[in-house]
Amino acid sequence: MRIGIDLGGTNIAAALLDEHMKILCRMNLPTRSERPYQEVIRDMGSLVHGLMRMGNVTPDMIRCVGIGSPGTPEKESGNILFSNNLNWHNVPLLKELAQYVPIPMKVDNDANCAALGEYLAGAAKGCTSAVMVTLGTGVGGGIILNGVIYDGVNHAGAEIGHTVLCSGGELCTCGRRGCYEAYASATALIRMGRQAAQQHPESLLATEKESLNGLRIFEAAEQGDTVAQQVVEEYLFYVAEGITNVINVFQPDVIVIGGGICGQGEKILTPIRKQVEASVFCKQVSVPKIVTATLGNDAGIIGAAFL
Ligand SMILES: [Zn+2]
Repeated sequence: MRIGIDLGGTNIAAALLDEHMKILCRMNLPTRSERPYQEVIRDMGSLVHGLMRMGNVTPDMIRCVGIGSPGTPEKESGNILFSNNLNWHNVPLLKELAQYVPIPMKVDNDANCAALGEYLAGAAKGCTSAVMVTLGTGVGGGIILNGVIYDGVNHAGAEIGHTVLCSGGELCTCGRRGCYEAYASATALIRMGRQAAQQHPESLLATEKESLNGLRIFEAAEQGDTVAQQVVEEYLFYVAEGITNVINVFQPDVIVIGGGICGQGEKILTPIRKQVEASVFCKQVSVPKIVTATLGNDAGIIGAAFL
C-alpha cells in the first residue's frame, strides 16, 4: 500500500492507496500556510497516521509516502527550495516529516505528480509520453517521457507556464512579462473577463463584478453573450498557442489539459485542436492527441503515491 499527499496552498489532501492505484480512504486538512512550516508538516504527519488508522494498517505495510508540493523541491534532500504559494524558502520537508512518519518518503513538484497520475491511471494511460498543462491559479507543466518525469538536471524544469508567449506583455507572478501563465491561467481568464466587463457594461459579465469567475465567463458565452464569447475565444487562442509550442518541442503522444477548465470538455477542445492543427510546425505527421484530464484532484495524489 501507499500514501499520496497533495500539499496545496489551501488544502492538504491525502489518501491511502493499494498497489492498483485504487484510493481506499482519504483525509484532508486546511493548509493554513501562514503558519510556521513546522506546523503544516506536523499536520501532514497527522494525516498519515489518520489514514493508517482508517485503513487499519501499520507503517511496515506502507511502501512509500509520496508528496506533491508546490514550488521547486530538491528530490535528493527532500527540501523545498522555494514555493511561491506557501512562501517557503529552503524548507526541509522530508527531514521534518520523518520525525512523525517512519516510512520511506519521496517528494516532487505538484504539477509533475498530477502529470504522472494522469499518465499512470488517467487521460494519458497507455501512452509513452505525455505533457500535462494545468490551467489553474497559475499554469503548471508536467512532462512524462517514457514513463519518467522529466524536469531537468536540477528538477527546476518543465515550467511551461513561465515561457514567454507575448514579449513585454502582462506581468507574470514570476516577475517576467508575457509568460504563458499570464495568458492561459484561470486568473488570466478572469482578468480578461473583468476588462471586457468594464468596457461593455451591457454584458452579462458586468453583472458579476468581484464574483466573476472562469465558469461564469463560459456560462455567459454559452448563454449567447457576445462579449463573453469574445473573451473565451481570446483566452482559448492563447491556450492553443502555448500547446502548439509544447507540441513543436516535444511531440508527445498526448497533451493533457488539467484544471477547472477541464469541465468544459469538447467546448474547449474543439477550437484548441483546430488552431493547433493549423499552427504546428510539422503538418506532415499526425498531431498529438489533445484531451482533458480525467482524475481531477486525485491525479496529484495518485502521482505522488507512485513517485
Ligand atoms: Zn512567469
